Amino acid sequence: MKSPETTDLVVISPSGLDLNRIDEDALRAVERLQKRGSQAYLVGGCVRDLLLDGQPKDYDIATSARPAQVKRTFSRNCRIIGRRFKLAHLHFDGNRKILEVSTFRRAPEAADESDDDDTDLLITRDNEFGSAEEDAKRRDFTINALFFDPIHDEIIDYVGGLQDVESRVIRTIGDPTIRFREDPVRILRAVKFASRLGLSVDPDTFDAMVAVAPDLKRAAPPRVLEEILRLLRSGFALDAFQLLRDVGALGVILPDIDAFLGESDARDRVLFWRTIEALDARVRTEGAPSAGVMLGALFLQPVLAEARNEPDASLATIAEEVVQPFATDLRVPRRETACLKRVCSVHARFTQRGSGRRFKPSAFAQDPFFDESLEVFALSCAASGEGLDALERWRRIADGSAEPSPRVEQRPRGDSKSNEPRRRKERGKKGKGRAEGGGKKRKRRSERPIEIETLEPEQVDLTAFDIELSPRRAPTFGAIVEGASKKKKRATMSFEEDAYKPPPPPGSSPSEPVAPPPPPPPPSDDEFGDW
Ligand code: ATP
Ligand code: MG
Repeated sequence: MKSPETTDLVVISPSGLDLNRIDEDALRAVERLQKRGSQAYLVGGCVRDLLLDGQPKDYDIATSARPAQVKRTFSRNCRIIGRRFKLAHLHFDGNRKILEVSTFRRAPEAADESDDDDTDLLITRDNEFGSAEEDAKRRDFTINALFFDPIHDEIIDYVGGLQDVESRVIRTIGDPTIRFREDPVRILRAVKFASRLGLSVDPDTFDAMVAVAPDLKRAAPPRVLEEILRLLRSGFALDAFQLLRDVGALGVILPDIDAFLGESDARDRVLFWRTIEALDARVRTEGAPSAGVMLGALFLQPVLAEARNEPDASLATIAEEVVQPFATDLRVPRRETACLKRVCSVHARFTQRGSGRRFKPSAFAQDPFFDESLEVFALSCAASGEGLDALERWRRIADGSAEPSPRVEQRPRGDSKSNEPRRRKERGKKGKGRAEGGGKKRKRRSERPIEIETLEPEQVDLTAFDIELSPRRAPTFGAIVEGASKKKKRATMSFEEDAYKPPPPPGSSPSEPVAPPPPPPPPSDDEFGDW
């Protein structure tokens, strides 16, 4: 493996970048810091994206200036944030744009880097100022550690990142096993960059991802959840989740989804992947939906498959069983959990043939999570090619352009064994509690129709995504989809206030072969988690 740490080689290269592609405020901020005598560079994702011909979604600046100096340099629009490690935020356009300015940091005091597997490398604090070079080397991947000086048009590369940009490879800076053990969330970040940017993964980095994936249990749950949501809203979730499975991370962070993929039949697996593919298409054309919808796309097929295994349980009960462990493990906020359970448990209502008078689609359309449920239903229709006329009808009901009741209730084959008792009971409930769908135990089998109304079933190639992946698959995954417009920019859930709480010591689970020692309990007040 190439080890940039052993070379001390600094490459300074003209960037060849067109400054017109770069945010003007970012350029001015760098210029002003330099004029005051500090080193200042654009750094991280923005440099990577510019070099890869992408458009950065935000700009980070790294500087030798201390936070107080930055504050003095930009007195009018600068706020200092962070408790232990302070960063400056420069606000523009009435707070619509924020540039992050961070002082060069160095890696925390190296733990004993002997090859002793028992050494606990997990970084729990990371807050010392350092030099530009130290700042570059503490970053995760070589492509994320390039400094760009737009004033002198120079890329400063301490880690071999330019070459990796050129060959479109993700490679950790330094020993990949150590770097992933320091912060296992980096595994999810590697997956994110590989899928989103269409990069391959360096073989040593890939092997280390496989080896260290079990450590993801030790990562702060809010960070893991945030990365899962980022993958889902990337527009490249299909690639990302297949790569997660390749490296064995899916079984650690989403064990029920992984088990579903391992145990279900080919048709269910194909529908699962096609639902994720439909989500990607939706993200690229209309932007990302809410977290509840994205998670619904992930959990719908596993819930429906489980429902077929447990014919006596209601869909709501199954949704509860499948979703709650995930929600607890990853500390999913309550509203998103309720939404996720609801979108899964009402899924069958969109296609059930009501028994006439008593089923009121317009009342169902008032459900607090109706819009999200309809969106997930739409994704499942896109995945299966079925239910499209029902979808059309429900959309008209939702936007008020349809006379709801007659169209849905006058289905020719009235389902005499309807879901009426459950609906009546749920209609009687008010507020959030309804969304939980709990407590409805006494379901007759006939109350759970997972009946899909077929319009003109498209010829679906059921082998298209039936991919059996081996952990040693060639690490070139993540082919970029040409011409995809990636709309993102949607308010995201913020979990930064969640303090880090160490999960149970590794080794307590029989499924975890490599057992590093229990993590020290780090009562972190660092709002950036481990990183
Ligand atoms: P994105 O386009 O998704 O924002 P990014 O590379 O900008 O990608 P950020 O999470 O915004 O990612 O982080 C900014 C930079 O901070 C990264 O480019 C990387 O250099 C560094 N970084 C972020 N997280 C880590 C981490 N866990 N370990 C080491 N370096 C990290
Ligand atoms: Mg960023």
